[in-house]
Amino acid sequence: MKHDILSMTLQELETVVLSIEEPKFRAKQIYGWMIKGADFDEMRNISSKTIDALKSCCELRLPKIVTRLDSALDGTKKYLFELLDGECIESVFMEYEHGNTLCISSQVGCRMGCKFCASTINGKVRDLTPSEMLGQIIVAQRDTGKRISNVVMMGIGEPLDNYDNTIKFLRLVSSPENLNIGLRHISVSSCGLVDKIDALALEGLPITLSISLHAYDDDVRSEIMPVNKKFSIHELLSACQRYFDKTGRRISFEYTLIANKNDTIEGAIALAGVLKKYIKSTPHVNLIPLNEVKETGLSTSKNVNLFKNKLISLGINATVRRRLGSDINASCGQLRRQSQKLDKKGTSNL
Ligand code: SAH
Repeated sequence: MKHDILSMTLQELETVVLSIEEPKFRAKQIYGWMIKGADFDEMRNISSKTIDALKSCCELRLPKIVTRLDSALDGTKKYLFELLDGECIESVFMEYEHGNTLCISSQVGCRMGCKFCASTINGKVRDLTPSEMLGQIIVAQRDTGKRISNVVMMGIGEPLDNYDNTIKFLRLVSSPENLNIGLRHISVSSCGLVDKIDALALEGLPITLSISLHAYDDDVRSEIMPVNKKFSIHELLSACQRYFDKTGRRISFEYTLIANKNDTIEGAIALAGVLKKYIKSTPHVNLIPLNEVKETGLSTSKNVNLFKNKLISLGINATVRRRLGSDINASCGQLRRQSQKLDKKGTSNL
């Protein structure tokens, strides 16, 4: 097995460099190249003898761009990336006033089984390594020529179901010798793995945690999100309050509005009630109009503004997510599905 050097800290790479009898400072040069997206052959200030020694024991897991869809409306770019083993993942580059943001994937496929989501239809194939998460940012940054200052882990996969690699990625991407993206500029989105939320609270990482709630009671949530059968709303929202008590970081809640499932005014009232019961600080709800996925048979709600206004009138901070890249279907999971041999099956459910 070759060393996955893009998953390494500078100190770890120094050990590898010493093992091929090169001076320690070589590690810093190599590190600088790889985070710019250079392959071994582009590392110009390193001798070919050293490059050959590196190639024999190391690999650089930078993804390759298979397809890039450019929105004609707002500069959004959607990437289909191929990994070294031929698996594909997606990332979306978005330009906001507060900086360029990349939405990255954390797994190939997903085993959480949410009924509305395209990424989970064939289950999970495998976890991404820290290098493969980092590589999406490095390659998108190189391709666009623009610095990415914000990252959201809202692409394919459940980041907390790939916990150790996600934590290593967060430590790497924020370190000064790596991409140096501030943890306060990184959001991790989770469908609500309670044990992992408790673990995350102890990591000392000031990221923003978003929880995909999508329902106001256990009946509705269990119907659309199988994870709720393992961790009920009571357990989930209690963990959210514990997370806040421990970290002082507010959690935001995502709520995808689906016609005839979770979008009634009574639902908004029930949602406000359950959030107030468990969350002591003013909760923030990010409403997402459902992006229709043909296979799911679910459709988008017509009540988005009514639902939002009801929440606000009940003292909940609610916003509707602006849809960037609507002409290129910028939600994750769909491009990969179109591109992959669809007979390939992964593992489903918890
Ligand atoms: N697994 C993580 C992150 C990936 S999904 C999570 O569950 O949070 C990122 C967000 O997009 C989640 O809130 C997810 O529920 C939502 N989402 C997935 N499919 C969607 C769709 N078809 N329309 C709207 N939102 C969707």
